[in-house]
Amino acid sequence: MKYYSTNQKADKATLQEAVVKGLASDRGLFMPEVIKQLPASFFDKMKDLSFQEIAYTVADAFFGDDVDAESLKKIVYDTLSFDVPLVHVNDNIYSLELFHGPTLAFKDVGARFMSRLLGYFIKKEGQKEVNVLVATSGDTGSAVANGFLGVNGIHVYVLYPKGKVSPIQECQFTTLGENITALEIDGVFDDCQALVKSAFMDKELNAHMKLTSANSINVARFLPQAFYYFYAVAQLHKLGIKKDIVICVPSGNFGNITAGLFGKRMGMPVSRFIAANNRNDIFYQYLQTGEYKPKASVQTIANAMDVGDPSNFARVLALYGSHKAICEDISGCTYTDDQIRETLKKCYKEHKYLLDPHGAVGYRALSEMLKPNETGVFLETAHPAKFKDTVEGIIGEPVVIPQKLQEFMKGKKQSIELPKDFETFKSYLLKQ
Ligand SMILES: *Cc1c(COP(=O)(O)O)cnc(C)c1O
Repeated sequence: MKYYSTNQKADKATLQEAVVKGLASDRGLFMPEVIKQLPASFFDKMKDLSFQEIAYTVADAFFGDDVDAESLKKIVYDTLSFDVPLVHVNDNIYSLELFHGPTLAFKDVGARFMSRLLGYFIKKEGQKEVNVLVATSGDTGSAVANGFLGVNGIHVYVLYPKGKVSPIQECQFTTLGENITALEIDGVFDDCQALVKSAFMDKELNAHMKLTSANSINVARFLPQAFYYFYAVAQLHKLGIKKDIVICVPSGNFGNITAGLFGKRMGMPVSRFIAANNRNDIFYQYLQTGEYKPKASVQTIANAMDVGDPSNFARVLALYGSHKAICEDISGCTYTDDQIRETLKKCYKEHKYLLDPHGAVGYRALSEMLKPNETGVFLETAHPAKFKDTVEGIIGEPVVIPQKLQEFMKGKKQSIELPKDFETFKSYLLKQ
């Protein structure tokens, strides 16, 4: 399978090139040239298949031309060593809990899959070690670090702003050791991101070591997210619900929802999607006006969705081709912090279901926009304990930290402190 760039100016790439490069040379995003339809027989029997079996069928449609069946199966089964349960909240609304992975966030799926696929290509080609650079304000760093932990042939450098990430998040990538190095930068998140960008452009550094990124623009990180959409539908089928299924996705960079839209294109029986935004409502405005106007992001309590120029918008547009076609499949909504707080509190009080601030945006959209004949699933993208202080402040009760998170907090912090200037960072990397 070849991958084209959404900017249409770069040469087509192989899967391996797309995964290793991340972004096309014309700075567009890679898109698979063909999106394969899955047969009706698969959808008919989906309810009797396991999450791993469903995921493998989907993975085979994406990657089966480029990865041998046995290896691909191993990558899928290895990635999905945890469950993604569908939980009834109230009336016709269900929560797809994506937070049962190692760092309690949905990004675990993509990060784990990408690490194993990259590891496969490195082994197959006998390549020299690949170095992943990732700048983080919290969540991405922990998912990537844990996803890549112990994978042969890959070293990960996580750059994070000193004193600017929560203690829980910090221990998720500073206590791992092995092939994960945490670099504590004396600056803000933008400084970390600038260091990573400069490193990718530096000739001397690229001659010294092979560098790559692991953010959500990478096809190996975003496509595997389609797996759990199919599994959600399978779980509804098992309950006898087969028609008028609506999926609502709390969205930031739009990687997650784009994977779901790919699923629909492959024949997944979902009638429509809702993209739920916080106050960063660029996509919502686009749906209303047909104009895409990026803005500087504003800070909210659902901060993983604080994105002012969603990078995967280019993919949504490439997939549908027009504003009209996009509006036929996707509707939008936007909520303020006060509305998020109110929703989280009310849902907990009335239905005993504890949302995190991101999931609350998705739940609210369904409770306002679902028609009586429809069944809605929102993606609960993170465990509420990851936003302990915010959630406790809203419900006025302590939130229990799951065992998995507590384990991280017992580990010993190991990090290397660096100033924010590029020359120091570069000479550090040149010594590795
Ligand atoms: C990353 C993230 C999102 C946004 O996902 P996108 O793929 O960027 O749209 C939503 N919620 C949580 C908790 C996240 O970590």
